[in-house]
Amino acid sequence: MNAIMLGPPGAGKGTQAEMFARNWKLKHISSGELLRQAVKEKSELGQKAQGYMEKGELVPDSLMVALIRDVIPRDHGVLLDGFPRTVCQAEELDGMFSQVGITLDHVINLTVKNEEVVERLSLRGREDDDPQTIRNRLEVYEAQTAPLIRYYETQGKLRSVDGMGSIEAIAGRIETGIRAHA
Ligand code: ADP
Repeated sequence: MNAIMLGPPGAGKGTQAEMFARNWKLKHISSGELLRQAVKEKSELGQKAQGYMEKGELVPDSLMVALIRDVIPRDHGVLLDGFPRTVCQAEELDGMFSQVGITLDHVINLTVKNEEVVERLSLRGREDDDPQTIRNRLEVYEAQTAPLIRYYETQGKLRSVDGMGSIEAIAGRIETGIRAHA
């Protein structure tokens, strides 16, 4: 199986992605983690990405596509978390997958109310979680990432799941949603 975890910042993608990948024995690829690692290592990519991340802007598509292309396994199922975040990235991903002959099966779309997202992010307290940056990340999500919902709906791959409630409850809903399409 190959899947994507989609949703606004603070939707709980990382937590759910980790659990889901473990259950289904998928390689969990978090674009945010890859980027933070690159920043920490001060690699060329990390140095280019850092400024965008601090402002809550998206890192340019070309950098992201190169980063992800490098880590997609050919012989193992994958769960992408945080990528794609733009229609351009989604189209590039379709190309990468078809090039190596793998198919995307499910796009798990975690839905969370806006107020809840702001609250969760303020509590989390990561470096890029100050109020101004949070507002910017939500605007960027609405403008650039939310269009992916339609994109994957059209492909018949969208599995929308209510992201409100306990971690276990949400994980249960994801399982149910996937099994309904297995
Ligand atoms: P969150 O889901 O809370 O926004 P992430 O860890 O997924 O946090 O991402 C942190 C930051 O990394 C984003 O605000 C953005 O700057 C950058 N980033 C992550 N994934 C992508 C992507 N696919 N395209 C562009 N930028 C990205």
